[in-house]
Amino acid sequence: MFIRHYIIMLLFACVATHGISQNMRVALFYQEQADGFVITTQKRGYKLAVGDSVIMQLPSMTNLRIHKTDSLVQVKTDSLEFAGYYIRLVSDSTSGFFINAIHSEKKARVYTGDLEFFNDMAVLHAVNIVPLEAYVAATVEAEGGYNAHPEYYKTQAVLCRTYALRHLHKHEAEGFNLCDGVHCQVYPSKSMDTDIIAATKQTAGNVIIDTSFQLINAVYHSNSGGITANSKDVWSSQLPYLVSVKDTFSLSGKHATWERRITLTEWRIFLENNGVNTSVMKNEDLKHKLKTRIPSIKYGAVSIPVKEIRNYFSLKSAFFDVDVDVDGEHVLLSGKGYGHGVGLSQEGAMNMAENGYPYEEIIAHYYSGTTVVNLKLLDIFRGLDKIH
Ligand SMILES: [Zn+2]
Repeated sequence: MFIRHYIIMLLFACVATHGISQNMRVALFYQEQADGFVITTQKRGYKLAVGDSVIMQLPSMTNLRIHKTDSLVQVKTDSLEFAGYYIRLVSDSTSGFFINAIHSEKKARVYTGDLEFFNDMAVLHAVNIVPLEAYVAATVEAEGGYNAHPEYYKTQAVLCRTYALRHLHKHEAEGFNLCDGVHCQVYPSKSMDTDIIAATKQTAGNVIIDTSFQLINAVYHSNSGGITANSKDVWSSQLPYLVSVKDTFSLSGKHATWERRITLTEWRIFLENNGVNTSVMKNEDLKHKLKTRIPSIKYGAVSIPVKEIRNYFSLKSAFFDVDVDVDGEHVLLSGKGYGHGVGLSQEGAMNMAENGYPYEEIIAHYYSGTTVVNLKLLDIFRGLDKIH
């Protein structure tokens, strides 16, 4: 064991971060299920291909309209019209394109890389083939917002990259890796934020692994309220790196606390529906003071999971005190944090970054027993696991 860890440390110290040349296939407008798309290529132009056959080099700023026909994909430009099973726009350099669902009133989106259209049963797919790191930067921009600290952006880049590579097969049956919605990671446009692009580049290829050298489930939420949640209390499975940790870094975040008032009648009905006999309970008996996160609140012999209370009342978190309001007619829920509470707290991570913590330490704080490693070393690490 000691030798193995010594070798790992040596390797890690000697190798700089490197990206990999992997491309991601991401379905655009996945939720919309559009019947067609309008595309405008940017200045450097694209090649238009049917299957593997290039039809023409597109001049800059070419407008294309893509439609679904019975079984084919139809493409129209100002000068030509044809159809095929696979229509492709092949990038010749760092070209980009604007794309919008047909008849959409929203703004067109802009991406880089290739674009492929094909029908999957009744659905026309628009799949962007994009280098991993460009995809990661775009998802960091969508999840991390603007004007954050560079170490926070690096943290989020490692999380988004780990997610993408762990879920490469999520939409495999449909002909792509990931979709562009919250089901996978939100991918609304390419990143144009120079800080985010730089942070992504500086962590290129870096991912988070557990003690079995597997990519972790790098879940995160907005604010932990001072203590993160165990994964088994929120979902059914307990992962060793998704265990509750004290998190004072989140306490100064803007979502550190919340309040919600519910009528006493509503609260009593909810408890009754969950098997609590409230007819014998005074208002005083309804109170609960939580010193820490707990999986469920007990009323007599009845335990009600806090996640069920959160879902039922659409609360910001499952970490709250129950009190009877001074008016005697309402229950006051005083809560901490925002989100499911498992894994990394984004506001806590931002605070750590602003206080000088490097992204590896931020990740280690929220994901117990994990390591940040470059993809190029991962196979070596897994090989070393066999050394005992
Ligand atoms: Zn998805």
